[in-house]
Amino acid sequence: VTLKLGNAGSRILVFVRVRPSSKKEKEAGSRSCVRIVNQKEVYLTEFANENDYLRLKRLRGRHFTFDASFPDSSSQLEVYSTSTSELVEAVLQGRNGSVFCYGATGAGKTFTMLGTVENPGVMVLAIKDLFNKVRKRSFDGNHAVHLSYLEVYNETVRDLLSPGRPLILREDKQGIVAAGLTQYRAYSTDEVMMLLQQGNRNRTTEPTRANETSSRSHAILQVMVEYRVTDERNNIVSRIGKLSLIDLAGSERAHATDQRTLRSLEGANINRSLLALSSCINALVEGKKHVPYRNSKLTQLLKDSLGGPCNTVMIANISPSNLSFAETQNTLHWADRAKEI
Ligand code: ADP
Ligand code: MG
Repeated sequence: VTLKLGNAGSRILVFVRVRPSSKKEKEAGSRSCVRIVNQKEVYLTEFANENDYLRLKRLRGRHFTFDASFPDSSSQLEVYSTSTSELVEAVLQGRNGSVFCYGATGAGKTFTMLGTVENPGVMVLAIKDLFNKVRKRSFDGNHAVHLSYLEVYNETVRDLLSPGRPLILREDKQGIVAAGLTQYRAYSTDEVMMLLQQGNRNRTTEPTRANETSSRSHAILQVMVEYRVTDERNNIVSRIGKLSLIDLAGSERAHATDQRTLRSLEGANINRSLLALSSCINALVEGKKHVPYRNSKLTQLLKDSLGGPCNTVMIANISPSNLSFAETQNTLHWADRAKEI
């Protein structure tokens, strides 16, 4: 699959990745309800409850088409090169780009984004690729790569590289920035994996399950690439491209589409940032003039990576199991909608 990102304007690419069945799903005798057809389509089957014959009539499957769909056999590298490598190229040209992983808890978002030491994910592969490309270009100027890694949890922004007090968002010339956020100058990929693993351990955990990252935590890695040259007249010319890589909170409780359910969900302390992201996407899809970025910390932070001239990649993560049918269906509908931006 080859994809070309637009040079001007903005563009969104939407992908789906099915993870392998888990041991738990296999033991529960679950069946697969998704099938990938011709690298682009996902076919979702609804299983019949054998006793409920009235429902049999409605047992049609449904096709969804995306820019690419990754079956459970896809490697991290395949996912990276198809979805994100062009964004890295664009960031080197001084453009902004962002990659989101969306899906229910357990669907494979963190695996896709961060991965493991043996099997690094998009965040690490992107930085590796970036360093390789920078090295090849080192003859024509200086590049500096800075990283920041932050969390939005319960509408509080925290620095994952240097945990401490919550950060305050401020608007400046460059847009909205988190005041005091660590900008880590990175020189090699090896240190970055360690740094990110450490950062991930700083994510908020649920009080009841101290080892598990909270399903309501969003992690945002921002990679700033600054390129500087001295021109003939001895002026320093610089340009900055920014790549944002976002491991979103679990989408399982965030399928509110109208304002009323939105408010009641907020009352129930459901993830405001995730709902606001959906609202912004809806507004962008509908071509509305007003996009409600200000409604949450996440959307404020990502304002320059969603609207305006930028490249956006959405990776929707799903489980293959019929036990997660409802979540998978919601995720596919969401992704289907996001395509239209
Ligand atoms: P999420 O972040 O969406 O809650 P995780 O990324 O933590 O989900 O994935 C849940 C479990 O499934 C983890 O144990 C993870 O290692 C495993 N997993 C997810 N995707 C894959 C994959 N593509 N290949 C192998 N294991 C995966
Ligand atoms: Mg996760």
